[in-house]
Amino acid sequence: MRPALLNPLFAPVTRLSGVGPKQDKLLRYLLDRDDTPRLIDLLLHLPSNVIDRRARPKIRDAAPGTMVTLEVTVDRHRPPPPRNRRVPYLVYASDDTGDVVLTYFRGQPDYVEKLLPVGAKRYVSGTLQIYDGVPQIVHPDRVVDEAGFAKLSGIDPVYPLTEGLALGSLKRAIAAALQRMPELPEWISPDVLRRCHFPPFREAVTRVHVPVELTDVLPDHAYWSRLAFDELLAGQLALALVRAQLRRPAGNRHAGDGHLRRRIIDALPYALTPSQQKAAAAIAEDLRQPVRMLRLLQGDVGSGKTVVALLAAAAVAEVGRQAALMAPTEILARQHAKTIAPLAERAGIRVAILTGREKGKERRELLARLEAGEIDLLVGTHALIQDDVIFKALALAIVDEQHRFGVRERLALTSKGEAVDVLVLSATPIPRTLVLTYFGDMDVSELREKPAGRQPIDTRAVPASRISEVVDAVGRALAAGKRVYWICPLVEESEAEGTDHLTNATKRFESLQKRFGDQVGLVHGQMKGAEKDRVMAQFASGEIGLLVATTVVEVGVDVPAATIMVIENAERFGLAQLHQLRGRIGRGSEASTCLLLYREPLNEMSKARLSVIRETTDGFRIAEEDLKLRGEGDVLGVRQSGLPGYRIARPEVHGQLIKQAREDALRIMKENPKLAGKQGEALRVLLYLFERDEAIPLIGAG
Ligand code: ADP
Ligand code: MG
Repeated sequence: MRPALLNPLFAPVTRLSGVGPKQDKLLRYLLDRDDTPRLIDLLLHLPSNVIDRRARPKIRDAAPGTMVTLEVTVDRHRPPPPRNRRVPYLVYASDDTGDVVLTYFRGQPDYVEKLLPVGAKRYVSGTLQIYDGVPQIVHPDRVVDEAGFAKLSGIDPVYPLTEGLALGSLKRAIAAALQRMPELPEWISPDVLRRCHFPPFREAVTRVHVPVELTDVLPDHAYWSRLAFDELLAGQLALALVRAQLRRPAGNRHAGDGHLRRRIIDALPYALTPSQQKAAAAIAEDLRQPVRMLRLLQGDVGSGKTVVALLAAAAVAEVGRQAALMAPTEILARQHAKTIAPLAERAGIRVAILTGREKGKERRELLARLEAGEIDLLVGTHALIQDDVIFKALALAIVDEQHRFGVRERLALTSKGEAVDVLVLSATPIPRTLVLTYFGDMDVSELREKPAGRQPIDTRAVPASRISEVVDAVGRALAAGKRVYWICPLVEESEAEGTDHLTNATKRFESLQKRFGDQVGLVHGQMKGAEKDRVMAQFASGEIGLLVATTVVEVGVDVPAATIMVIENAERFGLAQLHQLRGRIGRGSEASTCLLLYREPLNEMSKARLSVIRETTDGFRIAEEDLKLRGEGDVLGVRQSGLPGYRIARPEVHGQLIKQAREDALRIMKENPKLAGKQGEALRVLLYLFERDEAIPLIGAG
């Protein structure tokens, strides 16, 4: 149970005055939540920048191009002539040194008159420009009277926003949330507090939102760093707590004598690569240990993780126990089942699939067989963690693409058996330095070499203006019997802000269909599962040659015959995503081509990304470059995305803190593993605050 003192922070934002259903919807989008955000979500939405409004020169002394706050008297208004909306609404104002024009394009006369009544004194702030020799401010950011000015700080944080959400209304909500912030006990040890010069939590939150100095909002300064440390400590402590529960009851080993594994290997139409063999051996060894397995199997798309996972399941089946494989999407789950089924069958391993689509009688029968132990390996989506899914003897949980699942889901799956071993599959190679932060204390196996016989992928960047040549080339490829992916970023224009210039997959499908007829298919994330599968199957069988798709093909879809991929608006995708997408081709023995269509002009960041992706297909190198580029994101004026699952900590800024938090978590586990006493209680508050409390029930009351 969450400590009561945190309740105010977990109240819905709609409890705040001025936050209604409309803001609720916008804030959900902004804060990336499925339901109404809580005050804590708002408070952990930190500024992206800060504006200095402390400069208060006289008009005569104000430097053009700078942000100023002027104290002026309003002299007269000049509204635009009727029905000529292109002429701006002008307001003339002055101080004792000169005149300034305040310019409003499409200004509502009522609004401007009320804001700037003639004869009134106002404080106006914005960027000063010289136009026709006269100082002017276009759309001042702020216009306040004397009373309003007294309440304002000269330093004004700016936040990431979403279309439709005004900065002012977000700030009012944050200010109201700050008012309701309770005093919390200190969970950081006195030692660390002293060494890192961290302010208390409450002060840190307050100061990043209400900065006193310009540097107060910087990620590498004390306030933000304190919050990053809290977040990292919560994460590391939660992982350490889970890890501490992983001892296996004596006599409960999960690997058999290898007879099923041998049958699978004998049935393979290829030889395992050395790194596949090594990974499979490491897993088998883990399964034999008195400590539970927590292993990460990393490898590029197409590096052959599935067969390694199957061998792990087989090892468990050899001692009569069960395995589960959970994938993040329906397509991926089915893909796994399809790869696995024929191999498993020959070895006598019974495989079944469970997703949201298995319903009614079929589902009931499947669950009955599972509980009776008549299924050895259950493949599925998060349908697997539903309460009524009961295993007879679950011993191994394999989680594919884990960073899409939280620790919570992983625990939900492992709690369906006793001393369940965990194998995580990741197709996003993560630099070693980050493995700890994402996954905690895990053993790592890497599949670095590609299976034999793979051809390199020729990757080229092509400006969108040359799209007709690309379509012609696709036409020639289709005529030659090749299989082509055409990737578009979004399905619907309304899905995100500012996407109206993004190519709509449906429109692209229609235009390609006009040209190539029924050789063209379409899949996107909003299609029904069965429909998606049908189209994918048509593509796999060659019934259709050109598949227009959104990023639903990103992970795991396996059509080895596909050799060409066109990615539209490639500049919109991150490096990891481009790499994942491209991994769908180059899987067979034929040479492949990837065309990155981009819209000009490219910014520096996109240019750098496209050149990395053209240069290499090594996922581990791409991951490292990605980290470097994101580190430079600030310099290039791009907001960086940080660590998945982390809102505040950033790998390139807080690298040292990750280490510190980890050491601290280990020390806590040694000195106070049950989180008892006053310090323990404070740490529990921390875990609940950052919603890393899933391990608390495991350790019981403090
Ligand atoms: P991943 O899950 O790592 O993206 P998969 O396990 O889906 O990759 O494997 C991709 C393809 O490579 C599959 O068609 C699989 O049958 C094939 N494959 C796996 N291992 C080997 C190997 N050692 N040699 C040749 N082909 C392999
Ligand atoms: Mg796979």
